[in-house]
Amino acid sequence: MPKQNIIALAVHGGAGKYNRAAQSAQSAHMKDVAQHGKAMLEAGAPALDVVEELAAQMEDAGLYVAGKGTGPNCAGEYELDACIMDGTPRNIGSVCALKGYKNPVHVARAVMEHTPHIMLTGRGAENFAAGQGCKQIQNPLDYYIIQGVTRLPEELDTGTIGVVARDQGGHLAAATSTGGLLGKMQGRVGDSPLPGAGCWADERVAVSCTGQGEFFIKAAIAADISARMRYGGQALPEAAQGAIADMDAQGGYGGVMTLGITGKAVFVFNALGMRRAWSAENGAIEVAV
Ligand code: ASP
Repeated sequence: MPKQNIIALAVHGGAGKYNRAAQSAQSAHMKDVAQHGKAMLEAGAPALDVVEELAAQMEDAGLYVAGKGTGPNCAGEYELDACIMDGTPRNIGSVCALKGYKNPVHVARAVMEHTPHIMLTGRGAENFAAGQGCKQIQNPLDYYIIQGVTRLPEELDTGTIGVVARDQGGHLAAATSTGGLLGKMQGRVGDSPLPGAGCWADERVAVSCTGQGEFFIKAAIAADISARMRYGGQALPEAAQGAIADMDAQGGYGGVMTLGITGKAVFVFNALGMRRAWSAENGAIEVAV
């Protein structure tokens, strides 16, 4: 049985090419965010609250392709996706192609808590968010950092954000939030808001993914990691490597961030790098790309 009082967490800011200019700001920010989450967990906060709050901080930062840092789709609109999952009861909230709201992760949490459903999309999600009093964006031109597809896609990394945490009670939770791919088709939804693809938490593992969403969906990668552990008896590192190998064999790229019930964070990626921070066993917050 895992010890009851271990706390652990990890965050990622996407996988892909290095963007040297953005990187030091991202690393410093991820470290601060992880420190904050660690303090919350030490104070007894539930993993679910921690992943929601940290994901919202990353959405607000404008440093990642999520929240404020989202780029427009091919019609010039900002359509955002997010998912949050509470591992022990397997409660899930998800929003897809959400326009006009600052923090998709808060809307996803509200879907989890205040509807009989798991996922809301587009206008339905927006009407629901309005009724919940979620913070709106008055003018996208004043809010989003990337205006128009003036930057070439190759300048942008896949910069989805994710958070996984284990609280003092041994509960795992995960959140993933993204603006998706720059210049994507209207209505396109990737892996990030899909439970079992880009986001998952159960009683043994919490997972948040980043990369080419279509390939992560084909590999059902987050669910596959848990299934490899559950039915195949694999340890977490082996399960994560196996799932990434399967995605790689399909021709996709990206990475997975996973946190096991023992509190150990495992990252596996076939992209050039993955921006990440995590709580190490000695209590320090580590950062790597
Ligand atoms: N996985 C995300 C998507 O396909 C993109 C990313 O990770 O940056 O929407």
